[in-house]
Amino acid sequence: MNLVFLGPPGAGKGTMATRVAEHFTIPHISTGDIFRANIKGQTELGKKVKAILDAGDLVPDELTIELVRDRLTRKDAARGFILDGFPRTIPQADALAEFAAVDRALNFVLPDEEVIKRLSGRRVHPGSGRTYHVLFNPPESEGKDDLTGEDLVIRPDDQEDAIRNRLQVYKQQTEPLIAYYDDRSLLVDIDSAPAPDAVFRQVLKVLS
Ligand code: ADP
Ligand code: ADP
Repeated sequence: MNLVFLGPPGAGKGTMATRVAEHFTIPHISTGDIFRANIKGQTELGKKVKAILDAGDLVPDELTIELVRDRLTRKDAARGFILDGFPRTIPQADALAEFAAVDRALNFVLPDEEVIKRLSGRRVHPGSGRTYHVLFNPPESEGKDDLTGEDLVIRPDDQEDAIRNRLQVYKQQTEPLIAYYDDRSLLVDIDSAPAPDAVFRQVLKVLS
């Protein structure tokens, strides 16, 4: 099962991707997580993309496409995968169509006001990419990851200026992908407003 998760930043794609990946034992491939791991490890790629991520702009298509093309050649992706945050532009979607077949594109729908609430309360565990929310999905112990007890952080791009820019970038560059996948009869809308368990139930229904 080859899945693409679409939707604005903060819609809950990563949260659902983690659960779906576990449920179907397929890898959750988040381009954002891959970039952040490279920034943390101060790799060449990380140095190239840090300022772009901090500002909430998009990493150039060529770089992102190569990264995903390479990732999908790994053995664990042979039985299926979830692409979370890729494609984000029409050229990325065209490239993906050449190296992998997409079975479904799930479009996580959430109004802007809710997006802002979710992003401004988001906390992440940098080591694993696990995501929490101060109000909606708090960790067992404040500011600490449930599994490792390590500190949670606020992503630099979850500050107000970067949030505003990311929403604009989403509308200009990524939103056209909704029509792109709808035209190919691959699109399914998921109402992302309810609590995580209810969103997950919708997702399972669509995929079963
Ligand atoms: P995305 O990957 O689309 O950017 P995340 O999965 O990181 O979104 O979720 C954004 C924030 O919203 C996180 O803090 C997460 O804990 C919280 N969240 C995710 N899904 C829900 C939900 N259904 N209801 C309330 N909060 C949610
Ligand atoms: P969110 O779901 O909160 O928007 P992600 O973790 O998916 O965040 O992405 C974080 C950042 O990583 C993006 O703002 C962008 O700078 C970069 N990025 C991730 N995926 C892509 C992509 N497919 N194309 C270009 N840039 C990307």
